[in-house]
Amino acid sequence: MFIVWGSRITRRSVGRIAAFCPICGEVKPFSLKRVGKVGHIYYISFGQGETVGYEGRCETCRAQVWVDPYEYEDTPKDRSLSLDALRSLALPSHAEHMRQLEERERLARRGEISEEDRFDRMLEPFLMVEKMVAPRTGETCFDKQSGLGCLFVVAVVFAAIGLATMVEKNDDLAGMIAVIGAIVAVAGALFTLVSLATDVGRFVRKRGVPLIVASLKPLAPRLEELERVIRYLKESRMVVGKKIKARKLYAAIQKATGRAIDEDGAPEQR
Ligand SMILES: [Zn+2]
Repeated sequence: MFIVWGSRITRRSVGRIAAFCPICGEVKPFSLKRVGKVGHIYYISFGQGETVGYEGRCETCRAQVWVDPYEYEDTPKDRSLSLDALRSLALPSHAEHMRQLEERERLARRGEISEEDRFDRMLEPFLMVEKMVAPRTGETCFDKQSGLGCLFVVAVVFAAIGLATMVEKNDDLAGMIAVIGAIVAVAGALFTLVSLATDVGRFVRKRGVPLIVASLKPLAPRLEELERVIRYLKESRMVVGKKIKARKLYAAIQKATGRAIDEDGAPEQR
């Protein structure tokens, strides 16, 4: 029998904060959630589980960053509070830190930072996506595709058992239903396993890459720069380094900027 169990991530809304968004490049309102990890069997679990951390989601671009709620006087739930009102709730040292990040972003976009600072700045959206991926690695994590695959397997097994019981007296028919049911269930289980194995890659491509593109676009990175960043990520054994190809990312940034490039990554000659 196919038993689904493991730990799963739970999220509970805590309120709103102002935080620096590495994708938007400025301080933005974020919705704040407590992230917990709790055991489950067939996705049924109880309680909030242990705290993994606090996740902020940019209300503008939906980027997720880990944040420290203790850097704020309060994290109000009021949806109508303005950015300035939220910003005023940051403790002085954190407010200063956010101002520095904004200033650095302005300089980066004008090309007025050192090569090393530029490298660090280019790393940031990748590190952010890496953290978004982290809860999905090393445990069962069902996205829509693998979740549907799993449901399908359970449904087929129950349907086959039901049908076989109904035609109990006819041995041949019951046997045939059992065989067909088993074949379909195995195929479904394989599909689910493959979906689970590729879940992280799919998440990085669908959710991660568009965020990285949006973050790097204003910096107009060269292909060699992207290659250097991705080489660094790979050497640091990060998932994003393995799942993202510099050339493809470069092409996506060029496309977002409105510049067509050919497959070799060179600007298209017209
Ligand atoms: Zn944002």
